[in-house]
Amino acid sequence: MTPERIITSVLMPRRQPLQKVPNIASVQCNFCSKWYPKHRVHTLSEAQTVCEYCLDWHFHAQEFLGGAPPRGCQECDLTWETLKAITPGEQVRMYVVPKDGILQLLCAACAAKYIPQRTDLFKGTRFGAEVAKI
Ligand SMILES: [Zn+2]
Ligand SMILES: [Zn+2]
Repeated sequence: MTPERIITSVLMPRRQPLQKVPNIASVQCNFCSKWYPKHRVHTLSEAQTVCEYCLDWHFHAQEFLGGAPPRGCQECDLTWETLKAITPGEQVRMYVVPKDGILQLLCAACAAKYIPQRTDLFKGTRFGAEVAKI
């Protein structure tokens, strides 16, 4: 899937008006594996569903790449303030890591956990070597 295709699908709002009959069907987000009511997720393709949380972070990761300050880590939920406070030294590194077509913004610890699971993507890259020694 090309990035253009993803952007096209996420820019078309799929939010539906409030329904009188509660929709209890739940759908699993393919990215964070959490379950949400059907109207809270977006369908990227037949096989891919993404929740608002993951999509929100995807856009935030793009803002971060564009120079915006990071909010924090989407995986461990630490805020940027906390990450700065607990990280020794001057620099706090944040990583924008692609995951099946969307972007994630991760702290160094979470990136180091995720990267080795995806040697298919990162092995042999400078990124993989730097973050996870693969
Ligand atoms: Zn999700
Ligand atoms: Zn983290």
